[in-house]
Amino acid sequence: MQRNLLQLFYLLSAILFILGLRGLSHPKTARRGMFLAELGMLLAIVGTLLHHEIVSYRWIAAGLVLGTVIGAPLAIWIPMTAVPQRTALSHSFGALAAALVGISEYYRHGAHLGSARVATIGVEVMLGSLTFTGSLMAAGKLQGIVRGFPITYRGQNVSNLALLAGMAGLIVVLTLSPATGPAFYAMVGLALLFGVLLILPIGAADMPVVIALLNSYGGLTDAAMGFMLDNKIQIITGSLDGSSGFILSVLMCRAMNRSMTNVLFGAFGKVPELTAGEQAKKPIRQTTMEEAAEILGTARSVVFVPGYGMAVSQAQHRVRELADALKSKGVSVRYGIHAVAGRMPGHMNVLLAEANVPYDELYDMDQINSHFPETDVAVVVGANDVVNPAAKRLRGSPIYGMPILEVEKARVVIVCKRSLNPGFAGIDNELYYSDNTLMLFGDAKDTMVKLATALKE
Ligand code: NAP
Repeated sequence: MQRNLLQLFYLLSAILFILGLRGLSHPKTARRGMFLAELGMLLAIVGTLLHHEIVSYRWIAAGLVLGTVIGAPLAIWIPMTAVPQRTALSHSFGALAAALVGISEYYRHGAHLGSARVATIGVEVMLGSLTFTGSLMAAGKLQGIVRGFPITYRGQNVSNLALLAGMAGLIVVLTLSPATGPAFYAMVGLALLFGVLLILPIGAADMPVVIALLNSYGGLTDAAMGFMLDNKIQIITGSLDGSSGFILSVLMCRAMNRSMTNVLFGAFGKVPELTAGEQAKKPIRQTTMEEAAEILGTARSVVFVPGYGMAVSQAQHRVRELADALKSKGVSVRYGIHAVAGRMPGHMNVLLAEANVPYDELYDMDQINSHFPETDVAVVVGANDVVNPAAKRLRGSPIYGMPILEVEKARVVIVCKRSLNPGFAGIDNELYYSDNTLMLFGDAKDTMVKLATALKE
């Protein structure tokens, strides 16, 4: 009876996880998707508590309290812009837990485990250990605790590959002779080191892709643990996590027109920056709040293009208020969303949803690009790379080939940012020197407030 109930809980939670993932594929259903996935997780935990082999609930209760004490503050107080590093931290905890379960299995049963089980444990502990240190490094780089700049040295790729081959070799040794304890613990040490070395050459701005990839490693670890413990829900959730994390990282690379190899081994972010002197030589057209408000007030159609700067200054509510003011004057308002604007997938969608921007005003890049030629004003709010025409024209540019939002085709472009400083790719933006571009310097939130006030006046 208890066993059947457990299987029923697991089946229900697997269905809820799949429905949850499906819901997450659209902003309109994302909240419901998240709720279904949370319910699935709750059922999986409650189901596991019914397991007939549990002898005491004392340690489980301690684990629940500890998890809540760490998890609740992380969820409540960490700001939206720090979500990538928070996600990396969560992955590191999950991977550490999986690695520790594998290590304890080997420690307890070592020599008595058959070759197949030791091989599974070996793979699981290797993935768990490297995901643990790799995720900690990724969180450190994003938080600025570790230098975000790509750290490279001669022979880096060769030594990393040698390390990987060493770990694979030790797993083969363990499979042939499961009782070889030193090989197991040496493999754990190498995997912990590999996680650190894997992340060193990757720049902070590429971390979101790497985090999605580490998420996928974490999922594979979980699936391997499911095989080891004969736990079906873990095999299902691990496979879902592993495949969705991998698909996400591939999609992000595609949206940036980069290969996975380039992200992992390309030391991206080491491009020479344009000096202030070089920038100063090119003429720009700077505008004032009053002039910009006047242009907006006489427009018939306006497209807002948000980017990382909107997230940094938390300007999403003020953007919506300006849009509301424009709509009340009969202006048609739309938002152009680039898949990799900001620093995490769906970053702009999440922020604009938080500000209650109607979903039907959000347009993907492919949908909005054909509308720019008939748009009166494109307002770029803290976006840079995703509107840089160099991606189309400048061969050799780090973003060459990346599809962009073609704001330059609008009648007037108003760019709201604090300076001419580059964005993530570290390169100058030729949009700023275009004849129809007006630069409106200042913090995005501040600018939106002042524009709305000027517009009302
Ligand atoms: P971006 O190219 O990084 O540029 C952001 C701009 O925001 C900066 O030039 C900065 O200029 C401005 N800014 C910063 N703080 C501001 C503030 N308080 N007020 C106003 N402006 C502010 O951003 P993006 O156009 O969104 O492009 C995203 C980039 O990240 C792409 O290159 C993409 O490939 C990369 N990326 C994205 C993801 C993802 O999942 N979304 C993942 C990995 C990499 P000032 O300093 O002059 O203000």
